[in-house]
Amino acid sequence: MQWASRMQQIPPYLFLELDNLVAQERAKGRDIISLGIGDPDQPTIPVAVEALKHAVDNPQTHRYPNYLGSPEFRQAIADWYNQRFQVQLDPHNEVVGLIGSKEGIAHLIWAMAEPGDIVLVPDPAYPVYHTQTILAGAKPYPLPLTAQNHFLPDLRAIPEDIWARAKMLWLNYPNNPTGAVAPYDFYQEAVDLCRTHDVLLCSDGAYLEMGFDGYKAPSVLEIPGAKDVAIEFYSLSKPFNMTGWRIAAAVGNSSAVAALGTLKSNLDSGPFTAVQDAAIAALQSDPRAFFADMNALYQERRDIAIRALHAMGIAAATPAATFYLWFPAPFGMTAAEATTYFIQEAGVLLTPGEAYGAHGQGWLRISLTIDTPRLREGMERMAEAVRNHPPA
Ligand SMILES: *Cc1c(COP(=O)(O)O)cnc(C)c1O
Repeated sequence: MQWASRMQQIPPYLFLELDNLVAQERAKGRDIISLGIGDPDQPTIPVAVEALKHAVDNPQTHRYPNYLGSPEFRQAIADWYNQRFQVQLDPHNEVVGLIGSKEGIAHLIWAMAEPGDIVLVPDPAYPVYHTQTILAGAKPYPLPLTAQNHFLPDLRAIPEDIWARAKMLWLNYPNNPTGAVAPYDFYQEAVDLCRTHDVLLCSDGAYLEMGFDGYKAPSVLEIPGAKDVAIEFYSLSKPFNMTGWRIAAAVGNSSAVAALGTLKSNLDSGPFTAVQDAAIAALQSDPRAFFADMNALYQERRDIAIRALHAMGIAAATPAATFYLWFPAPFGMTAAEATTYFIQEAGVLLTPGEAYGAHGQGWLRISLTIDTPRLREGMERMAEAVRNHPPA
């Protein structure tokens, strides 16, 4: 049997590889502390669990769901955007339900990018933007995120001929993997440039509800007129601890929402109705106190890990949002060398930065989605491995 040649263009999905590596080490009897994967360790918001139990008892939820998300789910998303960001959305034309935002991100690229087109993709970034662009036959144009530019792409540095061929610009703030945040002015500039060049601005808002020390991330749709050029992905996965439930929405530009809906309705049948009902309950429960508790927990962990890294002599910046720490590998190691070193010498799994793009080379990511005592132990083990390292 001969698989399609496009299968050869898919790089191995990093987290699958890391899962395998950890499984191998554990099979040898080693205790591995995984700081690798960004997946909340705390339980789902209780109101969603209760609502799901109730919804599942109703046989009406057992049938094919509404392809584009139920009217009630889309209304709940619109109401939340109004309350949280003071952004008005028409639930019929400007909201589409998704089976997780990863699905929507991938499909939007298929709806928009053609062979020969350019897609502007930050580097480092969540790998789906890059991989799906390649699969669709288009070309990712990397936008370097560096410590010097505060991990915000220099949009003014994109050459005119690249803008002319570009169809989409991907942004993700608060950012995975760097933990960086985007100021309002940056979004203003991005909207202006996308309008000038007729480019769809795609904002991945997976971490919009995360923020420390009082920081609250803006939505790109807060920029007046943003809906002319922008679509945003709002996921319930990370803020409500619902990664396994697969529920999200895309909101904003009505023609982008419609195109995504058309493509999706030929591929899937919408999120399970009972899960949509649970999501509605979560959104309508006034979740601000829940978000505040989660952010306080991640902030405590952030401070434990940052203090430990600084004590190791590692210059890690303190992020204002997300549950990630992004820092240079010690001793001038490559990220791959450092990842192997910490697995072998400390039994701690980190994520190598180059998994997110060439500009992630030499960087490592820690995810704070682990029980606090285990995080503390992991940091202690890393510190010991650093002390034991032969002087460079
Ligand atoms: C986790 C994550 C997603 C995926 O979220 P789902 O809604 O669970 O598919 C998308 N983008 C980024 C940047 C993420 O970190």
